[in-house]
Amino acid sequence: MNSAQIYLDHNATTPLRPEVLAVMQRYLTEDFGNASSLHAFGHAARAGLEDARVFLADALGCAPAEVHFTSGGTEADNWALVGSAAVRGPGRIVTTAIEHHAVLHTCRHLESLGCEVCLVRPDRRGWVDPGVLEARLDEHTILVSVMHANNETGVLQPVAEIGQLARRRGIPFHVDAVQSFGKVPVQVDQLGADLVSVSAHKLNGPKGVGALYVRAGTRLAPWTHGGGHEGGRRAGTENTAGIAGFGRAAQLAQTEQQGRQSVLEALRNRLEAGILAAVDGVQVNGQGAPRLPNTLNLSVAGVQSEALLLAFDLEGVAVSSGSACSAGGEAPSHVLLAMGLDRRLAGGSLRFSLGWGSTAAQVERVICLLPGLVRRFRDLAGGA
Ligand SMILES: *Cc1c(COP(=O)(O)O)cnc(C)c1O
Repeated sequence: MNSAQIYLDHNATTPLRPEVLAVMQRYLTEDFGNASSLHAFGHAARAGLEDARVFLADALGCAPAEVHFTSGGTEADNWALVGSAAVRGPGRIVTTAIEHHAVLHTCRHLESLGCEVCLVRPDRRGWVDPGVLEARLDEHTILVSVMHANNETGVLQPVAEIGQLARRRGIPFHVDAVQSFGKVPVQVDQLGADLVSVSAHKLNGPKGVGALYVRAGTRLAPWTHGGGHEGGRRAGTENTAGIAGFGRAAQLAQTEQQGRQSVLEALRNRLEAGILAAVDGVQVNGQGAPRLPNTLNLSVAGVQSEALLLAFDLEGVAVSSGSACSAGGEAPSHVLLAMGLDRRLAGGSLRFSLGWGSTAAQVERVICLLPGLVRRFRDLAGGA
């Protein structure tokens, strides 16, 4: 990335911070030992691993032993769902229609193994009403899984309330907090969660490392079988460099969160107001619901989002059309469709997500560019 490029796709992934790289380098070179080895090399690696576990536990408000490192958010989501179904037997899983594919496609897999999956729809703002979800809970429900913040719209879900509903019935509660962790406080007791998924690369850490919080006493089948790693629940020699980097990234996010997020929120609000003033026929998806401070999801009437994305790319600006996982595909976002957008508006959606390195000058450049791009595509559509 050169300095003229503008990266506004932080919900897809984030740049690695230099402080994180420095820690990782140490565990890739000097302290390269296997954390299970009994000699000094092993002890050094083990110390880095356990320090990271403490940093994660501090950030999540839990005990270090409740943090289990994984290969990322997707694995944590898979483990939470499959591992719960394995010990509680096939039954009903209540989740939402706007979850990440790491949850939705795992649910589909569990359906093939005899589970029944209930997908609760959000309201038009992309917010899941706890009362609507409560009506779907029954005595066969083995798990409730609801994301903390939606990755496409940034809408924050009422997980604390949903957690109480689940707890009252003795149903374990999983929260996919991959998108919120590092952006807003994620404290396991406040979420009322028994299982929480997080991922390093969404908060300026490395790709391919994440964690699953498992509340002490929660029944969950082991994920991989082999050595006794991660409390005997997730076997495999630990990715010490990645995990140490994750720990540092979580620590940085925690200390800087408040200050940084209010700056990002001001930038996001300026971007939103600037675009709404400059372009007509734009709606903000998720408006009126509590949202992450960094995310802006828009639908632009009369324009295909892929066309806008590519035009922005030619100008050196990276944005997203819906979720990164469906990029390249023609399918409109399942999140926006579940919110009740028609296919045309859903197909004209753009996501701007700000983060570390975002500046006011970048925001002004986007506000300046968008009207011309939209006019060009609308003229083309009108003339055809
Ligand atoms: C990115 C993301 C995931 C997947 O995490 P990976 O570490 O990329 O596997 C899961 N859930 C949500 C909400 C996400 O934003």
